[in-house]
Amino acid sequence: RQSMKACNQFVAEFEQVIKKPKKHFSKTYYTGIDLGTACVVLAVLDENYEPVAGAYRYADVVRDGMVVDYIGAVELVRELKEELEQKLKTELIYAAASLPPGTDELDGGAIKNVVQSAGFELTNLLDEPTAANQLLKITDGAVVDIGGGTTGISIVEKGQVVKVADEATGGTHLSLVIAGAYKLAFDAAEKYKRNEQHHDELLTVLKPVIEKISSIIIQQTKGYNVEGIYLVGGTACLKNIETIIEKTTGIPTYKPTNPMFVTPLGIAVSC
Ligand code: ATP
Repeated sequence: RQSMKACNQFVAEFEQVIKKPKKHFSKTYYTGIDLGTACVVLAVLDENYEPVAGAYRYADVVRDGMVVDYIGAVELVRELKEELEQKLKTELIYAAASLPPGTDELDGGAIKNVVQSAGFELTNLLDEPTAANQLLKITDGAVVDIGGGTTGISIVEKGQVVKVADEATGGTHLSLVIAGAYKLAFDAAEKYKRNEQHHDELLTVLKPVIEKISSIIIQQTKGYNVEGIYLVGGTACLKNIETIIEKTTGIPTYKPTNPMFVTPLGIAVSC
């Protein structure tokens, strides 16, 4: 509970600096880059690993850890880098990035090249749920990162990651269901879904996909003594998603106040 409180505080500070960067002097800066299927987030920490600035943009340059628009990805990261450099009046040099678990052999090289081509020195490349746990500091349980394209699961026992997995169901699938049910174009469905005022009404429509995500969690945690599920990732922002997951998995399920920024901040902390 203590670590969840600290995590919530850290994320709240980050949300503040996205709006208003802290411009105090720091000898060095660490940038966490989350190149996601739906969203690219840059989180900047100072020499004491305190959040000082951040920026994010919805984009379609990466799909499930695969860079599908290399030039677009480089341009976007460079753009966000320059935007933050102007705000902080400094050059950002060091960066860490992440990948959905199990995709490093597939595309770790491309993510690395994007980060380096955008002008950063890459100091670390780690998997998303492991990055999230840098903030959550779970010693026993499962970190479940429900992103845009995929759901990543990392099982932690006695502070050690004992299993990582990634399955292709995430927020994009929820948007596709909304697009079908409400006869909306995909982008409009995405926007509709992200508006919290629609969440109560959407939960009924989205229940089958959330149950599918739950069945993935059940499958992947089989054989492990998982006493708690900790939700992160943009899709976990959906109000009461944790209630359905807890009910279907039978495992107590927790989520931070804003699950969307836990992974990018965890990446920055690992820089
Ligand atoms: P992946 O990890 O699968 O590569 P990603 O890193 O882009 O994807 P995140 O940034 O963690 O994933 O989450 C993006 C997803 O979260 C998108 O599907 C987006 O629509 C969804 N999302 C973001 N904010 C909200 C919100 N407030 N309510 C519901 N869904 C949201």
